[in-house]
Amino acid sequence: MGDHGLESELDGFLSGREAELVDFRRDLHAYPEIGYHEHRTTRRVKLRLEAAGLRPTILPKGTGLLVNIGSGSGPVVALRADLDALPISDEKDVPYRSTVPNACHACGHDVHTTVLLGTALFLERTAAAGGLPGRVRLIFQPAEEVPCGALDVLAAGGIASADRIFALHCDPRLDVGKIGTRVGAITAACDKIMVRVTGPGGHTARPHLTADLVYALGKIITELPAALSRRVDPRSSLSLVWGRVSAGSAANAIPDDGVAEGTVRCLDDEAWHAAPDLLKALIESVASAYGVVADLTYQRSVPPTVNEAISVAMVEAAADRVLGTDAVVAAPQSLGGEDFAWYLESIPGALARLGTRRPGSGDDFDIHQPAFDVDERAIGIGVRLMSATALTALGAPGTPVPEALPGAAHA
Ligand SMILES: [Zn+2]
Ligand SMILES: [Zn+2]
Repeated sequence: MGDHGLESELDGFLSGREAELVDFRRDLHAYPEIGYHEHRTTRRVKLRLEAAGLRPTILPKGTGLLVNIGSGSGPVVALRADLDALPISDEKDVPYRSTVPNACHACGHDVHTTVLLGTALFLERTAAAGGLPGRVRLIFQPAEEVPCGALDVLAAGGIASADRIFALHCDPRLDVGKIGTRVGAITAACDKIMVRVTGPGGHTARPHLTADLVYALGKIITELPAALSRRVDPRSSLSLVWGRVSAGSAANAIPDDGVAEGTVRCLDDEAWHAAPDLLKALIESVASAYGVVADLTYQRSVPPTVNEAISVAMVEAAADRVLGTDAVVAAPQSLGGEDFAWYLESIPGALARLGTRRPGSGDDFDIHQPAFDVDERAIGIGVRLMSATALTALGAPGTPVPEALPGAAHA
């Protein structure tokens, strides 16, 4: 391939396939399936891959699939899409509106799936022509919204022997054609906690003879966020915010139990791993000072998605090459969660934002909203970016070597 070889090959491929891919996305959009129920979606993807001569395998729970492209002993790059929809009603007025009550592709996973299918078809063609210096593993993951389908993929050996992994996520705040990148945390961890405080209870006239449970609960509520901000590196942005508190039923009776519930958000992987033990110790030290017993229930969600610098540089180099040098913009950090983070606990990789807003439209869509939709040109752009990223990560001829990428400096 020459300098513009990849670009023109992608042009040629998409001129024949883009309409088919848009139809594929609209079909998925009309028949959305929520987490672990993606049977039709899995079958549709499987049939299309098989028609191209590929041999996908379905994951043990029956939805989601893996497929390998290429052979030989070169590097292995994994690309991941998610298949599931959300349990909300589709409120759009479009021909491809959801036909399933209370199910809607409002997070753009139909787009992610279609982009990965298109990428598979292109890379299969590239491999057949001898242009793939390694192997690509495509992961069509189930159940991103009901964590954690990523853990099923890991348990099934989905990233075994993979050197790097990449994914895209629709971003309705970015114009179509733009790619948002970020080194470090791009999504956050969001866990739930519940603190239950118990004590002997008694009359409010005699707090000294019992344990003043409401006062102790109040101390836990105010002391914990303050203590956390002194015990954890502020750069980790670990924050505890309470959402519910309840105790007692009468003005003159000290209750014998009370509950506070809240969320813990975090942008740093190390702080996320340390958070449960730290919270437990802090809660116990406050509770014991007031003679009550406190139990912490810590409900883990997903880790923060921490993008690796060289992987981000590969995405950026790929975007420069096939989308133009002004395609890449800096993505802000999101406090939302994304289970792609689980893969990055094992191997380096990056999640990039795929712009889906129609330029100049004034559309103010957000993901997880019933009116969410995309500018479908994002599909072809996603195929270009994922294909070029895979080839860059495999060190295909004409792509920059990793050591020469700008990210290598601050890795
Ligand atoms: Zn979502
Ligand atoms: Zn999503």
